[in-house]
Order: sequence, then structure tokens, then C-alpha cells
Amino acid sequence: MTWKTIDEMDLVGKVVLTRVDINVPVDGGKVTDLTRVERIAPTINDIISKGGRPVLLSHFGRPKGKPVASMTLSITLPALKEVLGIPVGFCEDCVGPSAASAVSSLTEGNALLLENTRFHPGEEANDPRFAEELAALGDVYCNDAFSAAHRAHASTEAIAHIMPSCAGRSMQAELEALEKALGNPKRPLVAVIGGAKVSTKLDLLGNLVEKVDYLVIGGGMANTFMAARGEEVGTSLCEHEMTETARSIMDKASRADCEIILPVDVVIAREFSADAAHKVVLSNACPTDAMILDAGPATIAKIATIFEKSKTLVWNGPLGAFEISPFSRATDAAAKQAAALTRAGRLTSVAGGGDTVAALNNSGAAADFTYVSTAGGAFLEWLEGKTLPGVAALEQS
Ligand code: AMP
Repeated sequence: MTWKTIDEMDLVGKVVLTRVDINVPVDGGKVTDLTRVERIAPTINDIISKGGRPVLLSHFGRPKGKPVASMTLSITLPALKEVLGIPVGFCEDCVGPSAASAVSSLTEGNALLLENTRFHPGEEANDPRFAEELAALGDVYCNDAFSAAHRAHASTEAIAHIMPSCAGRSMQAELEALEKALGNPKRPLVAVIGGAKVSTKLDLLGNLVEKVDYLVIGGGMANTFMAARGEEVGTSLCEHEMTETARSIMDKASRADCEIILPVDVVIAREFSADAAHKVVLSNACPTDAMILDAGPATIAKIATIFEKSKTLVWNGPLGAFEISPFSRATDAAAKQAAALTRAGRLTSVAGGGDTVAALNNSGAAADFTYVSTAGGAFLEWLEGKTLPGVAALEQS
């Protein structure tokens, strides 16, 4: 890791252009979830305590390069003030004379929020001239938006090449957790990959089989692998056209000495609805008119033995249709066991991506994981082994 942290920067008297992700959920003009605002607080506090003046840059929604009233970041101001506990000013543009004047009147101990970077077409085009306009406002660039790091935009990528740059605290925490989990992990290393479809996770599976010792495949995508093994999957969610691909992933895994763990038993029902009549059958015994909605108890036990002998876990995707009772059992059981092993100091557990956070929250296990990433796309691209432009730019800065 060659990027700098806030600790390595001299911030005394400096204007710190701080890229955050406050693309928060809003309902009726109010922010409904403060998680993203809470995550950036340590960075802003540390910039201030090191004598810097934080100026916040963020995108919000998809205004496509022009101002859209409903996508103004001013909507987040009350939430920012509440969480940060300091005065936060606002400027209705993120570049130009009005922004320059707002920055020059920013006093010590306060923060300034600039309007949505995506109101300008140069943002998503990663236009170097737009990056220069942003950079002209400050002295130092700090990127605390890991969740936007998979996009090469002016405020996440180009700007880092033209200013002294560092990672903010939540970016730092995220990169350190990911490095621990996949860069230089303690072995054995197990990955749990679940969710709906193989087709959306091909790059992920392809990368992981070469890195991990065990790959647990669950959820709807396990059905495609079971079909590839010639097993009946009835009316289950299954991408029959992907069975050849599933076979090639299994071949690649065996060449790489990675053991793939597929369900040995499954929970089936005749309809996809809460509390549908259900039963456990062996993985090769699904009737043609039934669907597989979860992994069964023997599979849960098998996963438990793999977790017992592992030192590091990465997890993306639920093991069953966890939103519908009782098909969350396999996900719950595995999550609780991973949480207990982590608590006992025996496992480093890193999870993330879309539904995974909801599934782990559902089981009450998330708080005990070593790290849970809320950065959907960026987390997945990192697991896929891809270079994140926002991180690469910090490394080259
Ligand atoms: P993903 O976004 O790819 O991680 O997929 C998550 C979704 O997969 C969740 O909505 C789950 O309900 C769904 N899912 C997991 N297992 C199954 C299954 N066996 N049948 C249908 N949907 C499933």
C-alpha cells in the first residue's frame, strides 16, 4: 500500500478538498439513513484537529452533468451538522468564483460543503480541466469515498494527480481490511459467495478460485452449479445456459487447488413466499415441481467445519432467499458462526456488497465481523481483483 494517510500530511492552515460519499437515501426532503455521514466524521474531525479546513466534495444521484434541483446536496446539511457537531457552510457550486469566495471565508473549526460535483459534465468525463478547477480551491486532496473509487471521475481520479493527496479514515479502514482479507491473508482462506445469479459474479468467482483455499457457493447461483453436476433443480432460479461456465469454474478451481463447497442438502418449497410449506431433501432429490430456496442442515454443518479450520473469511451474497422466512436459516447460521469465531479472535471476517450487509444485519452478526463494507460496486470490483481508479490515483500521487 503506497498511498498516504492523514497522519503523513501537513494540514496546518491548509484547505483540504475532501471527497466523501454522501449519496444518502432521502425521503420527503430528509436523510433517512445516517450511516454514510457517520463514516466520514472521523476524517473531518481529524482534518480539523490537524489544523486543516475541510471542504467537502460529493456526488448525489445521477443529474447527468447539469443542475437538478431535487439532487442538491444542501438536503444533507442538517444531517451533516447533526453528526459532525460543527457549523457546516454550503456553496451552490463546486467550482468557480462563488466556490472560491466560500472557501476563502471558511474559518477554523468549521466545514464547507460544495454542491453536487455531477452538476458539471466534467465530473463523470474525468475532465482534467474540471479537475484543475476543483484543485484550484484547495491545498491538499483527501479521498474518503471508497464506495466511489471504482469510478474514474474528476473528483475521485484526475484531481489526485495534480495535488498532494491522501486517503481519509474510512478509505484507509476499508483498504486495510481488504488487504488483510485478500492481499496478505492468514490461511486457510475461505470465500462465501452466494446470491442470485452466476452471470453477475463470473469475474468474482474466476478471481477467487485462484486465491482462496475453500469457496462456498450458495444461494440461487449454487443451483446453476448443481445443474452443471447433472442434478435436478426443478423450478429453482437457475441459469441453465451458464452450466458450461460453471463447469469451467469448477475445473479452474481444481487446477488451483481450491475446494468448492456446494450444498449437499437443500430446503425446497413449491412457491416463493413467506412461510411456504417446505422440507429438506438431498441436493440431488429436488422434485421437478419444487424450488430450492436455502441450503439444508447438513450443508450448514459442512460450512461450519470449513469455518472452524479457516483463519480468514471473505463473504458476498446470501446462502438462500434470506428475505423470506424461514429461508434465511443457512445465511443466519453461517453468519452467527463467523461472528462467534471472530469474537474469539480465531477468524478475520470481511463481508460486503449490496444484499450481504442486509443479510448480516438481519442475522445480528454484522457488528462482530472484522469489517463490513457498505461499498457495493467498489467492494465487488476489489474482490474481482480489478484496479480501482480512485485508489490507483492515490498510489500514484
Ligand atoms: P445478489 O444481489 O446476487 O447478492 O443476490 C441476492 C438475492 O438472491 C437475494 O434477494 C436473495 O433472496 C436471492 N436468493 C438467494 N438464494 C436464492 C434462491 N435459492 N432462490 C431464489 N433467490 C435466491
